[in-house]
Amino acid sequence: MKQIRISAKNLGEVSLTQFCPRCFWIKLHLANRLPFQIFPGIFSSIDSYNKNLVHSWFDKYKCEPTWLSVLGNFKDYVNPPHYSKFNIINHEYNILLTGSPDGVFIKTDNSYVIVDYKTAKYTGTQDNLFPMYVTQLNVYALIGKQFGFNPISGLALIYMEPITDKDSASNDENQNEDGFSMNFSANIHKVVLNTDIISPLLYKTRELYELDKPPEGLSECKDCINLDGLLTLMK
Ligand code: SF4
Repeated sequence: MKQIRISAKNLGEVSLTQFCPRCFWIKLHLANRLPFQIFPGIFSSIDSYNKNLVHSWFDKYKCEPTWLSVLGNFKDYVNPPHYSKFNIINHEYNILLTGSPDGVFIKTDNSYVIVDYKTAKYTGTQDNLFPMYVTQLNVYALIGKQFGFNPISGLALIYMEPITDKDSASNDENQNEDGFSMNFSANIHKVVLNTDIISPLLYKTRELYELDKPPEGLSECKDCINLDGLLTLMK
């Protein structure tokens, strides 16, 4: 069995209601070298700022920022490991699972909490991508246990929602000589720790990977039809 390498987030796609096995098969076989994959860099800049801001607070005050305290009382953080080190092999399906959590915090009872930041409006479980994030965090927990994050007492998504109402825009404090400031409010959504959800997703991944040709896509997605049209035009 050829080894499959997949990130925690990409494995999470298998959990989505709108999961497309065709898209997934293509991504697995192209090792994610798909064309036209443009992701605005501003989001990773905000996530990185978010991480630095929280870590700076811990460095200065040896405790969590107030908004993080709904997850418990913390004494420190761990610098999140790079995905080249933070991985695990599932030998049953020969799949290398990789990831890099946004935040790992140590509680005063010495247990660990793993979080992922999302720069987005908070809609709770209404977020269509929520099942994907649940998988992502549980994969981090699975890898984390082997990495020494033991015990893990919690997982959470932290939605950082930009405050863009008119009152904030007209607040003089948000204007400065270089430009303006925009505040973010943190909405914390706890995620159930259940690494048992991972194995069926790995099974599905292996099953799809072994297909000789891509399976049918979603009938309601028009992109494949548009692609066929484009290929016909280019002939
Ligand atoms: S149907 Fe849509 S989601 Fe599925 S492979 Fe085609 S473009 Fe991708």
